[in-house]
Amino acid sequence: MAHRLFVAIRPPEEISDLLIDAMDDSPEFRWQDEEQLHLTLRFVGEVDRPVAQDLADALTRIRSDQFQIRINGVGRFEQRSSGALWAGVEPKAPVAALATKIERIYGRRYDPVSEITITTGATEGLFAALTALVDRGDEVVLFQPVYDSYVPAVQLSGGRPVFITLRPPHFRIDWDDVRRAVTSRTKVIVINSPHNPTGTIWSRDDFTELERVLQQTGAVIIADEVYEHIVFDGARHESVARYPALAERAVVISSFGKTYTTTGWKVGYCAAPAELTALIQSVHQWIVFAVNGAVQMAYADAVARDPECAGVTAFYQRKRDLFLSLVAGSRFRPLRSAGTFFQLLDYSDISNAGDEDFAIAMTRTHGVASIPLTPFLHAGETADRIVRFCFAKRDETLTQAADRLRAI
Ligand code: PMP
Repeated sequence: MAHRLFVAIRPPEEISDLLIDAMDDSPEFRWQDEEQLHLTLRFVGEVDRPVAQDLADALTRIRSDQFQIRINGVGRFEQRSSGALWAGVEPKAPVAALATKIERIYGRRYDPVSEITITTGATEGLFAALTALVDRGDEVVLFQPVYDSYVPAVQLSGGRPVFITLRPPHFRIDWDDVRRAVTSRTKVIVINSPHNPTGTIWSRDDFTELERVLQQTGAVIIADEVYEHIVFDGARHESVARYPALAERAVVISSFGKTYTTTGWKVGYCAAPAELTALIQSVHQWIVFAVNGAVQMAYADAVARDPECAGVTAFYQRKRDLFLSLVAGSRFRPLRSAGTFFQLLDYSDISNAGDEDFAIAMTRTHGVASIPLTPFLHAGETADRIVRFCFAKRDETLTQAADRLRAI
């Protein structure tokens, strides 16, 4: 019997499968050709940037006896030494480095043990937080286009997603919509800045509005900030952690995957006041209990060495600028990305086709893959003529892709 989730939600793999079918059909593709693979499959969302050497080196520096160390979910190190179990908070644990980093950048001090949780990617943090907070019948306010993992997690807990639709070209939040959506039944509001898939970011004014809207409610904020270091044009990342009245009721979720180009290592974290963290950890410990200790230690080093990650910001700024300049001569209209490594392009001057058909046809005919917005939309909302490109690619790949886009 099909699980009820798969009745309600179109799994994102389905669109990837359609794109792969389109590539199979396409004379543009030669699967043996590595460049082709970069242009296509990897154009969809994967980052094509090597892992920083010092992060990889940090893994090799870990002594074999240290691999015995298990770092549990709350960042306590446990080590068997001379037969006795030694347990304590290691000052070099990633939770300690993260507490220092977050305080330095966003001005809020989280206790490393009772307020920070290392998770299996942001995905597990989001799932643990939503599962811990949402009960049957609770409403969860979501902004759509919405990142794909939120809705299934809400529905698995028996919660009811309430959607606020952001509309092109700016995808700005209409605060009247938010006032209508947030009620006494709202248990959680999930926010995501920088935003996947639109590349928009929240401003200070947005947070002032959010504070007003939530004043009379008990709603908890889950803030997905995985792209915190990928913001452009000198903008400052507005973490919810900067806003004390909001941070009191917020779970901040981030991921080492985006910042360190290590999406496959699957390590992220949640920072939240102790009471909320206790709830999250009560779920987290039964999902994974602990996250890869050796990798956590490598990240601890990297976080302590360079909390600001200015190089990451500069790297993606240059990529976005390059991609925008390369598509400037095309009939695609860019909706300028302010953050993330995604760039939306409006194709309404080229075709009237729906976005899924357009993405598949473009893959098949021109050999450049993109992601339509339809899979990010729910509740009968239809997408505009816009597709999402990933510019976290080698310059040659971007140049080749843009050559083809300009020819369309
Ligand atoms: N949130 C958003 C908005 C994302 O784009 C992603 C990754 N695609 C995640 C969460 C998941 O992050 P992780 O890989 O650390 O699980």
